[in-house]
Amino acid sequence: MLIRIRDLQLQRLEFNEAFQPGAIDLGADTKQVAPLHTSGKAELIEENRGHKEILDDIRLVGKLETEVEVACARCLEPVRQPLSREFELLYRPQGADKTKQDAAVSKGETEISYYEGDGLLLEDVLREQVLLAVPYRVLCQENCKGLCPTCARNLNTGACDCKEAPPDPRWNALGTLGEKLKK
Ligand SMILES: [Zn+2]
Ligand SMILES: [Zn+2]
Repeated sequence: MLIRIRDLQLQRLEFNEAFQPGAIDLGADTKQVAPLHTSGKAELIEENRGHKEILDDIRLVGKLETEVEVACARCLEPVRQPLSREFELLYRPQGADKTKQDAAVSKGETEISYYEGDGLLLEDVLREQVLLAVPYRVLCQENCKGLCPTCARNLNTGACDCKEAPPDPRWNALGTLGEKLKK
């Protein structure tokens, strides 16, 4: 769904949409497993920039809800993760900010991004917001045992036959040194 500057010049836009899994490309690591519901509004903000320069900014406020599947950080099994996120974003035309000072112009805490051409694709916004909402580290269970470092068996499904790694003799040497130093 394209949010067009031309349309926003006439009136602000309210949206209430559902995107089925697959409609938004989330990349290889995150799989959408339930419809994504989003609602909010978009409006045009005319930003005065110095002499006669007016930027057509798009202000987007809304929320999303969906469910994704990501790999457990320890055992790599898929884990379902419900997500919900509220967002308040400001999009300036691509190229509007040539320097860091420009980008910092008086917009407080609002995140600033950029749109290209005649509008902003809602799907692009949602992709970014969904990925930001996924926790950095997801575990299938709090005490997930992970994979055996030797044979890669999932240790949640049972122990493997690998023996524990033999102690590294260098550590023994250090241990002896430590004993000597204590004396
Ligand atoms: Zn796990
Ligand atoms: Zn093993």
